[in-house]
Amino acid sequence: MSQENFGFETQAIRTQLERTQYLEHSVPLYLSSSFVFEDAEDMRASFTEEKDRNIYSRFSNPNTTEFVEKICKMEGAEAGYAFATGMAAVYSTFAALLNAGDHIVSAGSVFGSTHALFTTYFPKWNIQTSYFDINKPETIESFIKPNTKILYAESPTNPAVDIIDLELLGAIAKKHNLILIIDNCFATPYIQQPIKFGAHLVVHSATKLIDGQGRVLGGVTVGSADLIREIYLFSRNTGPALSPFNAWILSKSLETLAVRVEKHCENALKVAEFLENHSKVKKVKYPFLKSHPQYEIAKKQMSLGGNVVAFEIEGGIEAGRKFLDKIKLCSLSANLGDTRTIVTHPASTTHSKLTVEERLAVSITDGLVRVSVGLETVADVINDLNQALN
Ligand SMILES: *Cc1c(COP(=O)(O)O)cnc(C)c1O
Repeated sequence: MSQENFGFETQAIRTQLERTQYLEHSVPLYLSSSFVFEDAEDMRASFTEEKDRNIYSRFSNPNTTEFVEKICKMEGAEAGYAFATGMAAVYSTFAALLNAGDHIVSAGSVFGSTHALFTTYFPKWNIQTSYFDINKPETIESFIKPNTKILYAESPTNPAVDIIDLELLGAIAKKHNLILIIDNCFATPYIQQPIKFGAHLVVHSATKLIDGQGRVLGGVTVGSADLIREIYLFSRNTGPALSPFNAWILSKSLETLAVRVEKHCENALKVAEFLENHSKVKKVKYPFLKSHPQYEIAKKQMSLGGNVVAFEIEGGIEAGRKFLDKIKLCSLSANLGDTRTIVTHPASTTHSKLTVEERLAVSITDGLVRVSVGLETVADVINDLNQALN
């Protein structure tokens, strides 16, 4: 039976390195910074890449290779490279592919540090970015210029859980010959595979649902072999590589991704339904609630709604802060996609440096609360949110 015919979970569990002479069942940890050569000819052929083998762990390591191979199978990608963090993946992917004078068209609502790359750092190298409103996809093409090279978006977005039509982005990228890059962190390959819709590259912060247990940082970019080749060469020279230990952890995490994400999404839907019926809640946003403005698109491109629920409480910034202070079980933390439910109030924390207008442009109202629903007994999470709201 060909490996290609196996299902998602089997790929996640059975994609592994060849066993060593110890015939271990579970892949061991290869904490080795470099690898040895048989002789001068072996060394020569390895450096000219006539031989595909490990040389130095900044280039590749058995544990990072195993992790990347799994993600490639799960995303339907040809090749990939693993990074120390999600931001190392995002930065290196752009830096490897862009030249001075190139232009990016990006969704306005992207992860905060990604936004900082576009606004603070890339302009130093004369790389400019134009932003489209994720809720006005019909305007995207108006931002494309002759020097536009990359089209970039996240879906669902952080923290407002907006959805962008990936098929539409794929069609626009194809028409204008752009490289479409999707940050698939909030969905995971279990519920959304952007390459199917025309993405050339998919980036992940593996720190979130891929680790899923709040232990290690990691990132990965997968996609077409020719683009990954550029990213690999850039990265092997600049050094953002994932450590073997973190790769080993993340690769084990992938073995349980399907069951974890399934349960995360089941719990999140229950939390969203509870919030929708609560008198102190003005509005709830969850991709798989019929009330979500892009519900139909979410249903088309995602198999489940994800684990993040956004909702708005009456009373603005003060009410948001007061709500956080009343939370007992859930954590106030900056991470997401953990087994533990995490509650944040973007307007007074992660997005407090933006003006009210800037926040509204990315759907962040003053009373917006983001819940990353964990794997606790969902009734306990709901009771905690309920007592804090009341
Ligand atoms: C967290 C996150 C990142 C950055 O990942 P790190 O591992 O924290 O560097 C990038 N994109 C999204 C959508 C994220 O949530």
